Amino acid sequence: DNLSASEHEDVKKLEHSFDLLFDRVQPVSLINHNLTLLVPSDFYKEYIEENYLSLLSAALKKNIGKGVKLWYSVMENKPQGLEKPATQNYKGISVQAPKVQEVLPTTVSKSLVNPFVVPGIKKVNIDANLNPNLSFDNFVEGESNKFACTVAKTIAKRPGATSFNPLFIHGGVGVGKTHLAHAIGLDIKQNLPDKVVLYLSSEKFIQQFVSAAKAQNKTDFGNFYQMVDVLIIDDIQFLSGKAATQDMFFHIFDHLHQNGKQIILTSDKAPADIQDIQERIVSRFKWGLSAEVKSPDFDTRKKIIVDKLHRDGIVLKDDMVDFLAGEVKSNVRELIGVINSVIAHSMISKSDLSLDLLKETINKIAANQKKTINIPYIQEVVCEYFGIQREQLLSKTRKREIALPRQLAMYFAKEYTNATFTKIGEEMGGKDHSTVMYACETIRDVSKIDKELKKYLKEIKDKIFE
Ligand code: ADP
Ligand code: MG
Repeated sequence: DNLSASEHEDVKKLEHSFDLLFDRVQPVSLINHNLTLLVPSDFYKEYIEENYLSLLSAALKKNIGKGVKLWYSVMENKPQGLEKPATQNYKGISVQAPKVQEVLPTTVSKSLVNPFVVPGIKKVNIDANLNPNLSFDNFVEGESNKFACTVAKTIAKRPGATSFNPLFIHGGVGVGKTHLAHAIGLDIKQNLPDKVVLYLSSEKFIQQFVSAAKAQNKTDFGNFYQMVDVLIIDDIQFLSGKAATQDMFFHIFDHLHQNGKQIILTSDKAPADIQDIQERIVSRFKWGLSAEVKSPDFDTRKKIIVDKLHRDGIVLKDDMVDFLAGEVKSNVRELIGVINSVIAHSMISKSDLSLDLLKETINKIAANQKKTINIPYIQEVVCEYFGIQREQLLSKTRKREIALPRQLAMYFAKEYTNATFTKIGEEMGGKDHSTVMYACETIRDVSKIDKELKKYLKEIKDKIFE
């Protein structure tokens, strides 16, 4: 195939990231082209159907032949409180005498029509993938984002019908690009509910594309995107170096644009500054409108502080707001982090906030940040939690009892430090950036459907911050 080297890498890493999911999925029988998989819960079935069906199909076709039917045995949920749930232990689940709760067949060849259509459901049901918190209502307008915000609202009223197509939002880290992108999508969904809106990161787009390419499913992939009315791709700069994905993106872009569909892109760089991206794509980025979101200026920071505290029912005196706005200058994400800590500290100390207390709190937060939340510290916490050695964590073993803690450590490093995927990979025993990226994504995705993993996330997070 004509995948670039880095896309081939992605295919490899994609396979690697299956481990987390498929360790808990067991084949139980293969009778006359009927393959039965034992899954821990309905969620697993749905998750596999949604994300991995095309790859599974290709693998089955190759290894068993055409027309394989896929069946799922869902392990029965034990009544809560009586016994430990079957998913208690991550190291393995018992396959002995599984209680079959529901068995539904999936004809693999049919499912190949479109990796996103859940078999048995006629209507295409696309989850827009929008975060309801990232609305225009929750977005504070200021000099630094006024232009981008105004254009965003204009587009939300008339998606595809203005000359702002594509809208290209760019700017530094944590300044509100993702927030604006979601806000547009949410506004459209609210006012024009029939529009098919889809938000996704470019990493996700690449991942879907390489998995479709591997399963010889590129046409279906392209067709799927052509059904979308409003396509929002976040952090488009990651298409850099992904030549085959760029080809696909190019065709999807042109098709949507010609049909008056709205395209919204965000990037940490202006179009001309993205490396390793085809000229024809760069030129299309410039067709519509580029809007830069700048770092928040003093007044915008003040407004964000007041607004955020107001939502939590807290009113600060002017001098305190000024002080806070003067302290945290870098970006909105950090500013909000500090505000949250201030709120948490003031609640713990149960005293009214004074300027002195505020200064003390800020110092504490700064000291805390410097002292603790870095990658080695996260590794230490994770190792202690799982009772494993640091050498094991950094090793290459794919044994579940090590691989899962490793993926969790990568996830926490990404969430709670400013380290890039590459940097995290280096500190995790020399893994490359796509390994880290897929680990983070897998943990994020699977924790949505897996209670046990959710529990790990919460408990480890508490330990990190205790
Ligand atoms: P980016 O995508 O530019 O890195 P995000 O959109 O993820 O940044 O923003 C980082 C955090 O700051 C998010 O929690 C977001 O909701 C918040 N944020 C950013 N800008 C604003 C704003 N103008 N008003 C309110 N919250 C904001
Ligand atoms: Mg973002």
